[in-house]
Amino acid sequence: MNSKKLFEEAKKFMPGGVNSPVRAFEPYPFFVERGRGCFIYDIDGNSYIDYCLAYGPLILGHAHPSVVAAVYKQAEKGTTYGTPTEKELKLAKFVVDKVPCAEMVRFVNSGTEATMSAIRLARAFTGKEKIVKFEGAYHGAHDYVLVKPGSGATTLPDSVGIPKETTKNTILCTYNDEESVINAIENHDVAAVLVEPVMGNIGCIKPKKGYLKFLRKITKENDILLIFDEVITGFRLAEGGAQEYYGVTPDLVTLGKVLGGGLPIGALAGKKEIMENIAPSGDVYQAGTFNGNPMTMSAGLATLKHLDKKFYKELNKKGKYLTEGINDIVEDVGIGYLSSVGSMFQIYFTEGKVLNHEDAKKSNVKVFNKYFKTLLKEGVFVPPSQFECCFISDAHDYKILDNTLEKIETSLKKLKNE
Ligand code: PMP
Repeated sequence: MNSKKLFEEAKKFMPGGVNSPVRAFEPYPFFVERGRGCFIYDIDGNSYIDYCLAYGPLILGHAHPSVVAAVYKQAEKGTTYGTPTEKELKLAKFVVDKVPCAEMVRFVNSGTEATMSAIRLARAFTGKEKIVKFEGAYHGAHDYVLVKPGSGATTLPDSVGIPKETTKNTILCTYNDEESVINAIENHDVAAVLVEPVMGNIGCIKPKKGYLKFLRKITKENDILLIFDEVITGFRLAEGGAQEYYGVTPDLVTLGKVLGGGLPIGALAGKKEIMENIAPSGDVYQAGTFNGNPMTMSAGLATLKHLDKKFYKELNKKGKYLTEGINDIVEDVGIGYLSSVGSMFQIYFTEGKVLNHEDAKKSNVKVFNKYFKTLLKEGVFVPPSQFECCFISDAHDYKILDNTLEKIETSLKKLKNE
């Protein structure tokens, strides 16, 4: 069987042949045989330098020996118990130690569950119902946040199958724009402002200088909770995530991806007086068969032990090296616009800067799709959508980064000459 045949077969048994929409790219996605370090290998005998990294979790690269060993060791002792283990406590302590706003943690199984529960908690704590979210931000696949979302839902119509009564409590604002937030707060009784501190699901959009501080100030002044959705940026930009990187502390944070070391995870964390409202200590119901399961906790602990200040200095140095290189290429070749922070980046095919959802949507998606395919032929795998973000792992060394730069240059030159 090759990827093409498997995909034909898969379409008969799974909607669109995949289990998450962005995976189904044209003409067919490659089926993976294995991953190792910064490489991913398909069943057709091809290897790719991986900048998708499973959409962010694999900060140490694929199959890191200490993560593999930890998972293997735990599997031998049982995969899940439905009872507490010491590993949950260890990982919770780690989060509390590193993430500025975290005084208590609840582990769940996905970022989707984390934001869903954080919203419920914020509503219960404030006694208000409305939440502010930003156009193009993606907070998972649950009803409250599928309003002008990013990621795979960017190109879908809003809210099919979602009752209007549910989304009427979701107020949309424009990222990097103060006015829209001021208006929303003036006109609605807002419980929480939910924001991706760096928008990582509409490409990669950084907050403009002072924007997160503005959100902190206006929420505090109006008794509104500020929730940072750090499912991508948590343990990606710094030990303490975007809140450490930008020096702004929210009331609650949602985490996922890197925290689970490549196994399914989500988490919400925040101030004790808020978090204690979660069941069983409080009345905000939240539960899960696999919450805090020992396999994920093992992979998370094995990953996080590598992630100290030195690690992020080195990773962000690599990010700077690669993105400065890409920026030079983009400017020389005269096509594309690079947006990046730390070890996150994306190229847009636009004329001007990208500061929000509207700007990002102006990108020429057809050109992006060609860029994606040309890069893939060159042996580089970036997420197959303009509205996703690329990531660098510790396993990408400078030789690989130089090699990638050559390939990006070749691809962009080809596009320019078409
Ligand atoms: N929030 C953000 C910022 C995300 O990037 C994602 C996933 N890409 C989610 C929430 C949802 O996480 P999950 O896919 O684990 O449900």
